[in-house]
Amino acid sequence: MTTAPHEGYFDQGLAAIDPDVHAALIAEEDRQRDGVELIASENIVSRATLEALGTAMVNKTVEGYPGRRYYGGAAHADVIETLAIDRAKALFDCGYANVQPHSGSQANLAVFLAFLKPGDTVLSMDLSAGGHLSHGSSANLTGKWFNIVHYGVRPDDGLIDFDEVLKQAGEHRPKMIICGGSAYPRAIDFARFRAIADEVGAVLLADMAHFAGLVAGGQHPSPIPHAQVSTATTYKNLRGVRGGLILTNQMDLERKLNSGVFPGVQGSVILNAVAAKAVCLGEALRPEFKDYALAVLTNARALAATLMDNGIDVVTGGTDTPLMLVDLRNLGLTGAEASESLERAGLTCNKNGVPGDTQPPTVTSGLRFGVSAGTTRGFRTAEFEAVGVMIADVLNGLAKGKSDMPALEAATARQVTALTANFPIYEKG
Ligand SMILES: *Cc1c(COP(=O)(O)O)cnc(C)c1O
Repeated sequence: MTTAPHEGYFDQGLAAIDPDVHAALIAEEDRQRDGVELIASENIVSRATLEALGTAMVNKTVEGYPGRRYYGGAAHADVIETLAIDRAKALFDCGYANVQPHSGSQANLAVFLAFLKPGDTVLSMDLSAGGHLSHGSSANLTGKWFNIVHYGVRPDDGLIDFDEVLKQAGEHRPKMIICGGSAYPRAIDFARFRAIADEVGAVLLADMAHFAGLVAGGQHPSPIPHAQVSTATTYKNLRGVRGGLILTNQMDLERKLNSGVFPGVQGSVILNAVAAKAVCLGEALRPEFKDYALAVLTNARALAATLMDNGIDVVTGGTDTPLMLVDLRNLGLTGAEASESLERAGLTCNKNGVPGDTQPPTVTSGLRFGVSAGTTRGFRTAEFEAVGVMIADVLNGLAKGKSDMPALEAATARQVTALTANFPIYEKG
C-alpha cells in the first residue's frame, strides 16, 4: 500500500513512469551528441547545471528578494539566490545584479517597465539589421505599446550606422536607446552609444545576450561601465541555464529594476533555474572559463576565415563575437533551403536575414553560425576549419544545383558523426 498519488510517484524514474517523454528526451541527447551544433543561441551546460535544475527546489515558491520574501520557508532559497547575485556581481564587476528574469526577453521587458511609460519613444536596432524581437519589434509587446524608432547597419559594410543613430536620436529624442542584437557579429562602441544617449537625455540599455561569456572571460569589452543598464542571457555564450540577468553599477536604479522584474513583469521565482544560474556563474568565475572565452573568439574567427576562403560571403568580413552572419545572395540561395540542407548533413544552424534582405523572415538570404556549443565540447580551430569546409561544400554544392546533393549531405553527415565521436558530451543515458 502506498499513500503516493500513484505507484512510484516518489521513487521511480521517468523511463518507468512516462516512457513517451523519456524516449524523446533520450533522442534529443543523441541528437546533441552526434551532430555539430552551430545555432548561436545554444550551448552545452555542465552535468552540475543539469543536476541543479532537477532537484526538489522546483517545489518551492517565493516572491520578492532574499531576506524580503512573501512566503515562509525561504532560507535555502535565499542562500541560493544570494550566491547567484554575488557571483553575477563578481563576474561582471558590477554593484547590482538581478538573477530572476525567466528569459532575456523578460529581462528587457522589466527594463522597459522600469524606465518607460506606454507610448514613450525607444531607439533600437532594426530586427532586420540584427536586433531582437524584445527591442521593439512590431510583433512584440514592446513594439505594440511603445513608440519604436530604429537604426540599422550600413548596406556596404554591415556595421552600425552611427550617422543614423545620431540622426534618429536627435529627431525623435528617445527616452531609451538599446544597443546589442541577436545577429550583429561585431564589437559595439558602447562609449559612442552612451555619448549619444547623454546628448538627448536617454537611458542606454546594452543587451549582451550573445557575447556575455566573452565579456565574463575578458575577451570582449564590457558594456557595464558605459550603459546605465545591461541585460544578458545565461544560456547562450555564458553557458548556463535558460534565463536572463539585469546588471548595473548605478545603485540608484536598484529599486526601479527590482520592481521592474517583480512585481512588474514576473511573479514567483523559478528557483531551480536560479540555482542553476548560480552554478553557471560559479563556473564562469573559474580560471578555465577564460580559456573557453579565448577559444570561442579564436574559433569564431577561424570558422569565418575558412568560410570566406571557400567562397562564402561573411557579413562584415569576420566577427568579434561568438557568432557570424553569412550572406547567401552571391550563391543565389535562400537561408531556408541552405539551413535545411545543412541540417540533413548533421550541421544545425538557423536561417537569418542579412542587411538589405528582401526575402521574408521565413525564407531569408542568410545563415547565422555560432561556435559556443562546439567550443564547449572541445572543438578548437582545426575542428572548426573542418566544419567550415563541410559547410562550404554543402553550400557550394547547392549553389551549383548538384544532382547528387543527397549523397553529399549523407557523406557530410558521416564526417560529422566521425568528428563528434571524438568529442563526447554527456554519458549515454
Ligand atoms: C536571445 C536574445 C534575447 C533573449 O531571448 P529569450 O529567448 O527571451 O531568452 C534578448 N536579446 C537578444 C539580443 C538576444 O539575442
